[in-house]
Amino acid sequence: MTELSPELKNTYDLTVAGAGPMGLFTALTAAQKGLDVCIVDYKEEKNIGNKVCGDFMGESVIGFIKDNLNLDYSDIITNKLNHMDLYSPDGTVISMPSDGVMIDRHEFSQALLKDALKAGCTLYKSCICKEPVIENGYVCGVNIYDKDAEKSSVIFSNIVVDATGAAGILRKKVCDNESFDSSFIERDIKPEDMSRSYRQIIKLKNQLDNADTGKMILLPGPGGYYWVFPKYADTVNVGLGIAGNHKEENLKEMLEAIMAEDEIFNGSKIINEGSGVVSTKRAIYSPVGNGIMFGGDAAFQTNPLTGGGIGPSIGAGFMAATIAAEAIKNNDVSQESLWGYNRLYYDTDNELREEYKADLFDGGKHPGRDIIRILVQSLEDKQVDWAFKNYVNNSTVSKLISADSSLTFGEKAGIAIDVAQNPFLLKIGEVIPLMKEMNKAYENYPQTPDLFPAWKNEVDSIYAKVYNICG
Ligand SMILES: Cc1cc2nc3c(=O)[nH]c(=O)nc-3n(C[C@H](O)[C@H](O)[C@H](O)COP(=O)(O)OP(=O)(O)OC[C@H]3O[C@@H](n4cnc5c(N)ncnc54)[C@H](O)[C@@H]3O)c2cc1C
Repeated sequence: MTELSPELKNTYDLTVAGAGPMGLFTALTAAQKGLDVCIVDYKEEKNIGNKVCGDFMGESVIGFIKDNLNLDYSDIITNKLNHMDLYSPDGTVISMPSDGVMIDRHEFSQALLKDALKAGCTLYKSCICKEPVIENGYVCGVNIYDKDAEKSSVIFSNIVVDATGAAGILRKKVCDNESFDSSFIERDIKPEDMSRSYRQIIKLKNQLDNADTGKMILLPGPGGYYWVFPKYADTVNVGLGIAGNHKEENLKEMLEAIMAEDEIFNGSKIINEGSGVVSTKRAIYSPVGNGIMFGGDAAFQTNPLTGGGIGPSIGAGFMAATIAAEAIKNNDVSQESLWGYNRLYYDTDNELREEYKADLFDGGKHPGRDIIRILVQSLEDKQVDWAFKNYVNNSTVSKLISADSSLTFGEKAGIAIDVAQNPFLLKIGEVIPLMKEMNKAYENYPQTPDLFPAWKNEVDSIYAKVYNICG
């Protein structure tokens, strides 16, 4: 347990900036590994975990926490979604099995916070992280402003973790600081690589017949999707996210126009509503520098196809804490020493990934999915409709996607005819191999920082080819 109060003590092994899933799970795991940890968040304690979200995550997150930290969070599950129906714009549906659950996000964060404090972490609530403290090329602390006390102070620590979500405040500030080598770190994100969202929690007049089924409608035009996820039998989480470069659209009006077409919303009541942003691109290539690590939304570690980031944040928090504990034990917090976090994050061949499935430990697969996201955003509605219909019929698109080398002559001829009638299929045919090339590149993620520049050039050149095809 930390014995000194935050007012008397300002030096820690680890400072975690931001108390979202990434920050809280990093802090909790690191404290369980014996590190002296503090968490800084600008929210009041009781508001930590209040965030506009779809509230959907893989159930394996709960199993992972139970197995690895011996904590049972199954109480935060409000509903299980056994099926997910994915619709194209004209209503063609692909139904998939799902192992997802709906959660009470506020309760989840409050439980993580309680356990982190129990494990000895110190909380600096209502405190804004302003900028990193940098000495001799190393991040060694954070300047904070306490909103309640109306005063600034400095927290020193061996390692700082930027878990400030989409704000990524420390990531941006280290890139702006000339005395820090940020050549491996990306400062900015393009608007089209982000999703602007509006979400409502709705109490329905009648119970749902299929409360175990989520619904998503692809909206290729504005580059996003609409979702309805049942939270309880009579309550749904409904929202819409579109690419950030579509600035002129009024999200609330768009959402309500789609909802007006669905009779389940007749006579319903809004319980909560709000907007948010999330990244839908690959994560930053290297989430470490001297004395600093980045994770969760601050490192764009979301699934590019869904914007899902809770599971990835929990996985990344575990990996960051594991590597931070080793680095502190070895008395070396250099970029090289922290590089193990990069390797773990992008390793697609580890036992954890095998056991807990994609949601938590899938970082190495996200860049390939990013390519699919770029492809889908470049298609027209009617092309996506065509692709859905033909995917359902197990025809050309599914074969192009699986890039099946054992196609018969007749099947190849069938593809040739389809492509002649639908030239956009050529685009799909060209992009899918690039996705595979990207997956391969991440299987060969550099083991040490000196190999990084050449690897980055290779990945950048794959992206250049993708943008060349998709525009
Ligand atoms: C509308 C919407 C719907 C989503 N739906 C889903 C979903 O259904 N499933 C899913 O898995 N993911 C979903 N996501 C994504 C998911 O919410 C994020 O990926 C996840 O919250 C990332 O966790 P994090 O800890 O990195 O960041 P956050 O949860 O954003 O936490 C960041 C924390 O940092 C604090 N902070 C920020 N700046 C500062 C500062 N300067 N000083 C101090 N504190 C600071 C904030 O108060 C916050 O507590 C959704 C996102 C949005 C916007």
